[in-house]
Amino acid sequence: MALDGLGKSLRNVLDRINGSSAIDENLIKDICKELQRALLQADVNVQLVLRLTNTVRDRALNEKPDAGKSSKQHVTRIIYEELVNLLKNGEPVALKPQTILLVGLYGQGKTTTAGKLANFFIKKGFSVGLIGADVYRPAAYDQLKQLGDKVGAEVYGEPGQKDAVKIVKDGLEKLADKKIKIIDSSGRHALEDDLIKEISDIAEAAKPQERILVLDSQVGQQAGPQADAFNKAVGVTGVILTKMDGTAKGGGALSAVATTDARIVFLGVGEHIRDLESFDADRFISRLLGMGDLAGLVEIAKEEMDGSDDIEELARKMTSGKFTLNDMYMQMKAVKKMGALRKIVNMLPGMSKMEDKIDFDASQAKLDKYKVIMDSMTNQEKEEPSLIKGKRIERIALGAGVESSEVRELLRQYNNSRKMMSSVSKDRKMRKRMQKQFGN
Ligand code: GDP
Repeated sequence: MALDGLGKSLRNVLDRINGSSAIDENLIKDICKELQRALLQADVNVQLVLRLTNTVRDRALNEKPDAGKSSKQHVTRIIYEELVNLLKNGEPVALKPQTILLVGLYGQGKTTTAGKLANFFIKKGFSVGLIGADVYRPAAYDQLKQLGDKVGAEVYGEPGQKDAVKIVKDGLEKLADKKIKIIDSSGRHALEDDLIKEISDIAEAAKPQERILVLDSQVGQQAGPQADAFNKAVGVTGVILTKMDGTAKGGGALSAVATTDARIVFLGVGEHIRDLESFDADRFISRLLGMGDLAGLVEIAKEEMDGSDDIEELARKMTSGKFTLNDMYMQMKAVKKMGALRKIVNMLPGMSKMEDKIDFDASQAKLDKYKVIMDSMTNQEKEEPSLIKGKRIERIALGAGVESSEVRELLRQYNNSRKMMSSVSKDRKMRKRMQKQFGN
């Protein structure tokens, strides 16, 4: 995920809290120093870092833990909340029919992002039309056309035409039946007057609901002033930070934009069409801290799977506290279907520690084998695998035509998954979020 380095140092801070015998003033001071180091290394502005660590220190020293919470949990929660505050953001892009205009300087990732956004909305069930109004960069139309063809979006363009407003007007007419229309505009090397005029004219003609600035996060803290400048010039409704995968300065760009009036709506995290993440400060920080991002996991799963019923059922199980062998089988099947394993691994709760303990190689062969083994079990055993011991393991192995060690492996994997699921169902905040999402 984006900002691996920062995530690692923040998790070290949390480990230090967890591993301490008592939370005292000295420890809090040390922790604040480590937090400062971690955030400064990720290019976060010094003033913001100092403000954050001062608040963490004051709250940790003065606030009493909630009833039933230990002081370790309390300090962890404070760090989490203050990091979320640092990146506080607005509403996500609405999932409704609309026109989206992408603006930004040359080479920031506008065209790529137009393709990613088209894919995002198509996966959510919308029809999408792309309008190539980048009249400055000759190859932009072909690039957009390729991306559109790949994701199944219709692309409109008039190669050779220099009047961007005309292309946009024609395109909107041609693509009138599309629920989502995304306009890719020209960039320049700097925010020059002719660029401002061109974007303003397009905005006037298209009346887009969203005017989104696409910004390369490698500019670090400079992302703040750039977002401000574009906002003043043409009024942006949101920012997409691209190339978060390739820079240590992502923390600088993120936090700097968060302090402007513009809201961050997505992060670009790679060159692939799927490398676009909806931005939500809460979820982003949970993942950085290794607390997992179940809502994000479910979102990806839903996009990848034909029917989303299984995954909703699975999500309900995750929050119910009950987890059977059948659930684990369903979970493995879901993970296999989703394919994008690495991405998902990072979203699972406590994954930084669990990664080596859980076998995520949900190959078809393994799924088939597990199925055969489970077929040799009674229903009661599948519901309550702790009943399976000693002789039963051998009988099940015999019935399934496998080695006892393979039955034990299945049970071991079950136990690991169950532990992980139980940590989710005990996390009140996570449970609430999941319940809200699925209305149960
Ligand atoms: P535009 O001039 O703003 O339209 O920029 P492009 O869409 O052509 O992107 C410029 C370069 O950045 C291309 O090589 C893209 O593949 C690359 N790019 C765009 N977004 C990302 C991202 O999120 N991560 C990475 N690693 N590369 C990106």
